[in-house]
Amino acid sequence: MRNDRYYSLNLNIRGIGQSPTLAINELSKQLQAKGKHVYPMGLGQSPFPVPSPVVEALKMHAHEKDYLAVNGLDILRKSVARFHRQIDGVDISSRNVLIGPGSKELMFLLQLVYYGDIILPTPCWVSYAPQAKIVGRNIRLIHTTFENKWLITPEQLESYLTGENDKYRPRLLVLNYPSNPHGGTYSSEELTRIARVAQKHEIIILSDEIYGQLHHKGRHISIARFYPERTIISSGLSKWCGAGGWRLGTFAFPSTLAWLMNSMAAVASETYTSVSTPIQYAAEQAFQGGIVIERYLCHARRILSYIGKRSTEILTNSGIRVHPPDGAFYLFIDFSQCSEKLIPKGIIDSNILCAKLLDETGVAILPGGSFQRPAEELTARLAYVNFDGSKALATSETIPLSERLPEDFGNYCCASVFEAIHKIVEWLN
Ligand code: GLU
Repeated sequence: MRNDRYYSLNLNIRGIGQSPTLAINELSKQLQAKGKHVYPMGLGQSPFPVPSPVVEALKMHAHEKDYLAVNGLDILRKSVARFHRQIDGVDISSRNVLIGPGSKELMFLLQLVYYGDIILPTPCWVSYAPQAKIVGRNIRLIHTTFENKWLITPEQLESYLTGENDKYRPRLLVLNYPSNPHGGTYSSEELTRIARVAQKHEIIILSDEIYGQLHHKGRHISIARFYPERTIISSGLSKWCGAGGWRLGTFAFPSTLAWLMNSMAAVASETYTSVSTPIQYAAEQAFQGGIVIERYLCHARRILSYIGKRSTEILTNSGIRVHPPDGAFYLFIDFSQCSEKLIPKGIIDSNILCAKLLDETGVAILPGGSFQRPAEELTARLAYVNFDGSKALATSETIPLSERLPEDFGNYCCASVFEAIHKIVEWLN
């Protein structure tokens, strides 16, 4: 018998399920509701509260009810452009800023309107490839290695681009740094060299800098500095401003790519119309910055750096391969050194690894396969966000920023993170 439900699905959608980040979050909640003790480290959600001036701005504008322009609120676009000029040193005009309901949606629109192959260094964030599949784009994966800290090298990019038959093919490289899923980032020199290759082949770069402000040392550098003419910078409120659920993302285009922005805005006008008005006013406050937000960021970075380093130490001392993160709140763990113990237990791929770990310890993390790594590779992403961000910030604020956080900070403020890390180590042994 014909399965109508299956055959009536658009070919591009067949086989696509709910995004792993959202699915693991729901599963963790269901298990918790059933009474299981879960360490929810699957979804990458900021543990910190939204800074108070931003919350106040939202309250103040709750009564704003009119639709806004598709491209976004003028004063917000100005703030975003200023932000990129001042913080990233890139000459962005407010005319070339597009506001969307999350950078995720803007990325989808970009892939929809831009008829080019998408080049993804892996491991990469879970949604880039499914979005490309949904809109029918070719996906070109470039696998990076643990030895290269999971970063793409200019040589790898060059060899891929010269290896293509049609050198005029439209192509879009997605570069995400500090990275989700591994927290690593590029040095200024590495970015310069990658930019040179991109320039030579005239490809567009989507520079996903959503974690830029969460560089642990506050030293994020944008590749747009070295390749301004074809780089789109993606940012938003979700990570550095702790407001993932508010859904606000920003794209900043060079004037040479204004045609792309205009096409995206045309599709936006036929789909979501415009982003929530009060949220845009609040975002204006966030992108304006100021002392309170700067202090918030300094403390958030110090806390994330502390947890990232300590967790890496514990794992590395137990023979598990992982790099300390430069930014964000992720560790990309390579369990391959433990394969002799895991394979006899039937753990032959990253999905089984994560399912068993969750079942036997309650630690919820996401398999490397969700980040486009080969399924049989025993890797996984851990989001170290299962702690009370308000409490951690309040405690950090009592310690001068010139000092390091004390040894016992972890026991008091983020014990659940370290408990989970120890659970992983015990489970492996
Ligand atoms: N970016 C977050 C993550 O990778 C969650 C948001 C999402 O996937 O939509 O976990």
